[in-house]
Amino acid sequence: MTPAQPPFGDMPPDDFRRYAHTLVEWAADYFEQIETHAVLSQVLPGDVRKALPDHAPEQPEPFEQVIADLDRIILPAATHWNHPGFFAYFAITGSAPGVLMDLVSSALNQQAMLWRTSPAATELEEVTLRWLARLMHLPDQMEGVIYDTASISTLHALAAAREVAVPDVRTKGLAGRSLPRMRVYASEHAHSSVDKAVIALGLGHDSLRRISADSAFSMRIDALEAAIAEDRAAGITPMAIVATIGTTSSTSVDDVPAAAAIARREGAWLHVDAAYAGVMAMVPEFAWMRAGLDQADSIVVNPHKWLFTPFDLSVLFTPRMDVIRQAFSLTPEYLKTPEAGAVKNLMDTGIQLGRRFRALKLWAILRYFGAEGVRARLREHCRLAQVFAAWVDAHPDFERVAPVPFSVVCFRSAPHAYAGNLDVLNHALIERVNKSGDVFLSHTSLNGQIVIRLAVGNLRTEERHLRRAWDLLHEALDAFR
Ligand code: PLP
Repeated sequence: MTPAQPPFGDMPPDDFRRYAHTLVEWAADYFEQIETHAVLSQVLPGDVRKALPDHAPEQPEPFEQVIADLDRIILPAATHWNHPGFFAYFAITGSAPGVLMDLVSSALNQQAMLWRTSPAATELEEVTLRWLARLMHLPDQMEGVIYDTASISTLHALAAAREVAVPDVRTKGLAGRSLPRMRVYASEHAHSSVDKAVIALGLGHDSLRRISADSAFSMRIDALEAAIAEDRAAGITPMAIVATIGTTSSTSVDDVPAAAAIARREGAWLHVDAAYAGVMAMVPEFAWMRAGLDQADSIVVNPHKWLFTPFDLSVLFTPRMDVIRQAFSLTPEYLKTPEAGAVKNLMDTGIQLGRRFRALKLWAILRYFGAEGVRARLREHCRLAQVFAAWVDAHPDFERVAPVPFSVVCFRSAPHAYAGNLDVLNHALIERVNKSGDVFLSHTSLNGQIVIRLAVGNLRTEERHLRRAWDLLHEALDAFR
């Protein structure tokens, strides 16, 4: 039983130790028994709310009860992103070294707004991101900063682009001024975070011009050129181009060197969204994807997507961090420090003031797996995707809908004599497979058709999990025939 609590102060150290051991055991069991859970939570809307009281307890509760509720309420209502049958969206893993360092990060409770409020977090972020940049073969001028998500990385990148296009925007804003209209260009397959960034930056959603893609879902460079020429003729200034390496729907790759040449010619900012696939630049066989990255004004890569880092950790690399600092640095009296000129203060590199010690988990992951270990795992995920793609290609009832440059397979069922609507059929297959609890698939739309996506990215995924997904798809199809 929980001993009586002291009237003041934190949990006593011996209790902390005991509960910490219990929870480490709990987490180890969770990892070990992950496949006993339904990968996609099968609870109904409102189930979690109903299982909990309306008010916080007035009296202290035994911590055992909190732990018991993890099993009773939280686990069944969690969708298990760590499950090897998780193939939806982009599959991820919160790897053990990262989980352990998240514990340390919480224990240390570093708030790294200023160098002096955490020299460790400030300098470890710099060192770890330098390691990551070198692993990805990025030029040494690329400075990195950690944000929570790619959406925020892209927001900062486009804020920097806006700073360059309208140098007094920080003081005068955009409203009520006679400025030329500005445009951001991105492929029709670019992520919706680009839309949100232009909206948040006050540029207006119309300032984003979506460029059509070719048959491999890559941004058409001729269409980009034509759009810019048309805009120029109408007095609209190209502010930024967003090129994607690994688009969300199909993981297609835009022509970064061509986009870079256009951006340079037009004086526009080139942002490369490599949130999912950027880590593959570490792998020698994928050296082709490094082309043009040295020309980028900013690159986002998400270790929380495909570098086994517990959510969340996104990295923005830029050789122009000075522009981001120009856009956001602001030091009220109470944050002035004598060492200011000699150090980096992370609060200057973005909107948020305080920040968690996220670098710790990435640092530990790079050390624990080593570059070779990381590369081997990434390669294996790509190999598994090719295995699945080959099954699809060989089967008459299924067809592949996009190339597989990385670890995602886009396909759909299209049986020969099937008279019904294929979009309805494919949605139904996904729903049925997802009810199994063994596999979680998601969908997208390509060429106006509903497509099933199978994304490999989990450290525990093996060929048998792909086989289970394939068998379930066939069982589901049989049920609809
Ligand atoms: N960019 C791409 C290509 C993505 O696929 C995603 C999410 O899947 C994002 C950006 C946004 O990522 P985040 O959830 O880190 O904001």
